[in-house]
Amino acid sequence: MIFEFFRIFLKNTRTINILDVLLYKGILKGDTFFLPLIRTIVRERLAKLPKIELHVHLEACIKRSTIQWLAEKNNISIPDYFGSHEPLFFKTFEDFVEVFWAIGKVIVSEDDFAYVVRDAVEYVRRNNIAYCEISWTPHLYMERGFSFDKTMAIFNAELAKHNAQDQIRFIIDVQRDHGLEEGATVFQKVFDTPNINVVGIGLTGFEEGHPASIFKEVFKKATELGYGCTAHAGEYGDSAEIWRCVSDLGVTRIGHGIRAITDEKLMQFLIENNIHLEISLTSNVRLERVESYAKHPIVDFINKGISVGVNSDDPTVFEIDLLDEYMYFREQCGLSYEQLKKSNYDALEAAFCTDKQKMELKQLLDEAW
Ligand SMILES: [Zn+2]
Repeated sequence: MIFEFFRIFLKNTRTINILDVLLYKGILKGDTFFLPLIRTIVRERLAKLPKIELHVHLEACIKRSTIQWLAEKNNISIPDYFGSHEPLFFKTFEDFVEVFWAIGKVIVSEDDFAYVVRDAVEYVRRNNIAYCEISWTPHLYMERGFSFDKTMAIFNAELAKHNAQDQIRFIIDVQRDHGLEEGATVFQKVFDTPNINVVGIGLTGFEEGHPASIFKEVFKKATELGYGCTAHAGEYGDSAEIWRCVSDLGVTRIGHGIRAITDEKLMQFLIENNIHLEISLTSNVRLERVESYAKHPIVDFINKGISVGVNSDDPTVFEIDLLDEYMYFREQCGLSYEQLKKSNYDALEAAFCTDKQKMELKQLLDEAW
């Protein structure tokens, strides 16, 4: 009965703003009877809202049960934690990369990617993501003999099977620490293969000692060809690395970019040039890039007027959903429903899809939020 009352009460957007004040400004305390109830209803409401996500890696959308199943099918041994829901924490980036590669090992043929994409579609639908750009770093697989064209064809066939071609687009990444030659080869494959639902290119990998500037020409070419450009930067690297990405590569988005907080001039540049930061709260906490959710620089970025979005980065590694990130955004970072709403509009503006699709998605956000 009480639950139903709150459910009706919550249908009003203004109500959410009142609850924001009650819940997150400390007026309702943790031992208040209504708090868990309201929290459940708020979560339920957030779950239903259409969302925009721009930073999530393909293999990190596979369910752990699928990883186990693929490992058994392909006779590959995997670490025990894939058989559990254990949340993983990392002391170093190397430790993180090891987990990611363990997932990659269970995928032994192009056809296996159909199961990966199936889970990615499920992740997108489960979180009610209206538009999602999913990153894939193909080189590891191409080195093992996978055909880029065949794999992309399997991705798109699986999307078509679930009628998700408009909902999910791809970004092709290269690992910056693997050097220019490898990166240029992968990106050339993208440029030579039209109609594969790829809307952008990006950089991942080890930042320190691997400045992005060497990719200047290939990013210039991508921009000329109409691809969107993004790069992981300022996660392990410093603000100088973010400068290199925006100045030399001309990216319009930065993956993470949290070190921008140390550079007032850079933050001003991000605001003036409308550079979007793809923020992933849990990823930064679990990789010890920030001390806690509460101390995440997203709060300052938003207060200064920098464009930011909320992303899960690697759901299966961290055992989170995008919805969990939305709850952390509000409960742990103390940010409001209105700020969460704005982050979705910011992400939409920074998305690499067509203007026509952006208009349609904007209408969807306008109606629901
Ligand atoms: Zn990432």
